[in-house]
Amino acid sequence: MIETNGAQELQFLIVMDAEAADDQVEDVLARLAEAGASGRVAPGRESTVIGAIGDHGLLGTLSLDGIAGVDRVQPVSKPYKLVSRETSPESTVIQVRGRRLGGRHFGLIMGPCTVESREQTLATARAVHAAGSSMLRGGAFKPRSSPYSFRGLGTEALEILAEAREETGLPVVTELLDPRHMELVAEMADVIQIGARNMSNFLLLSEVGKTDRPVLLKRGPSASVDELLMAAEYIVKEGNPRVILCERGIRTFESATRFTLDIGAVPVLKERTHLPVIIDPSHAAGRRELVPALARAAVAVGADGIIVEAHPQPEEALCDAPQLLRNADLIAFADDIRAHVALMDKEIG
Ligand code: PEP
Ligand code: MN
Repeated sequence: MIETNGAQELQFLIVMDAEAADDQVEDVLARLAEAGASGRVAPGRESTVIGAIGDHGLLGTLSLDGIAGVDRVQPVSKPYKLVSRETSPESTVIQVRGRRLGGRHFGLIMGPCTVESREQTLATARAVHAAGSSMLRGGAFKPRSSPYSFRGLGTEALEILAEAREETGLPVVTELLDPRHMELVAEMADVIQIGARNMSNFLLLSEVGKTDRPVLLKRGPSASVDELLMAAEYIVKEGNPRVILCERGIRTFESATRFTLDIGAVPVLKERTHLPVIIDPSHAAGRRELVPALARAAVAVGADGIIVEAHPQPEEALCDAPQLLRNADLIAFADDIRAHVALMDKEIG
């Protein structure tokens, strides 16, 4: 492949006609050189392709369309660089309080959707710990579709989560909704979650890029895989390389599940980025009965972890009730996942 080097980056590909002659290829190379760029020739089975390497303004100054032997010119848009697999072929492993996620380490993150009370959260944290999880999740600030729904206990919830961490030793993942809560959340959270609704909140992304906390970035329900990667680039560009990507279902015409779990996004992301990729089967399914099957699929497709919601009495939950696993079922659920993780020659981190 064509390498990039500082500002001298690959800008576009010139695809030659199938029957282009050698001197036509030479002519294109000469034109590139004249414009201060260079070309890398890749002879293909069907046609020769020339990679044009130079600085950014190159495409604007050079017109190659219509030149003899040139079939087409394709810009190479590299809208994300730091997160791309080319930049770092080795997979990133995220370490949090001695737990690992990525590579051989499968992250099992479980906990309440929302911190509703001290009792509910501590009971869930204990069940999550007993099941052998890697981390505890729990929302203090909740994004809700209706402004009249319960939107979380805020600061009080952060204190409850701190107590749950103290007791169980589990690192805590919690969502940041508003840059004005940055310090408050970063002080308590071990991992900062950016929710699906905020995947394209570029200001918020830049802000979490300035912290030293790992970020769990959820894919927007209508975002493409590349848009998710560009969102991650916003964070990494600010100096925070510890980003975990999360597929949590996208919006489609299908209404049998809450969202459509885009399972294919996992291997695609693993091709395009070195960052770890996890799956949220709870929000994708929308129904607890479907969560174990989607969680097993996540393991099998090569995800680096899952994030799952649980509650002592789901019927009484204030948020996402139908999709919450029962705390009483967490050990059996985790054992099943652990067995599948072992089949992949991985272990829970
Ligand atoms: C959540 O994790 O509780 C949540 C609100 O998820 P999402 O942002 O994926 O909807
Ligand atoms: Mn939820």
